Amino acid sequence: MSVFRFRRFTPDIMVEKLVDIPLDELRLRGIEGLIFDVDNTITEWRNPHISDEVVEWFINLPNQGFKTCILSNNSSARVGIISVKLHTPFLCNARKPLKSGFERAGKLMKLPSSKLAMIGDQIFTDVWGGNQAGLMTIFVQKISVNEFWGTKNISRRAERMIWNKIDRNMRQR
Ligand SMILES: [Mg+2]
Repeated sequence: MSVFRFRRFTPDIMVEKLVDIPLDELRLRGIEGLIFDVDNTITEWRNPHISDEVVEWFINLPNQGFKTCILSNNSSARVGIISVKLHTPFLCNARKPLKSGFERAGKLMKLPSSKLAMIGDQIFTDVWGGNQAGLMTIFVQKISVNEFWGTKNISRRAERMIWNKIDRNMRQR
């Protein structure tokens, strides 16, 4: 069935904001580690500011029983600053959607893919890569319209082209 052809691009959960992620549901599904994208997931692109609401939510995750890690295709200088602010380890230049970055994150967190969720704002890096690596995937709406030109002009256009299929997959769950 054609409906299933786009499964690899379909997240398990979609939320508007990070703080909307249903932590109880993740716990019930056996998730123990959360892997986060940075640009437009935690911060705006090229802007190291993180909202107070997100900082508070994020640094409280270990108290809720979740290990955390940042996995970004961006460079170490930028991602390092974010990781210090959020008291969490990071992996940069991850080359998402390639599997290797997700595997490195799993090793770092000492958790198998079945206990990990990938959280990000892009279908073709975070969701596709996370699904390929066997992780639960959570799509979060991008924080801002400001983006790297390749994201804006290529990835987002491609996302829009398959969006109705993704949406249909989500509704059929
Ligand atoms: Mg992103």
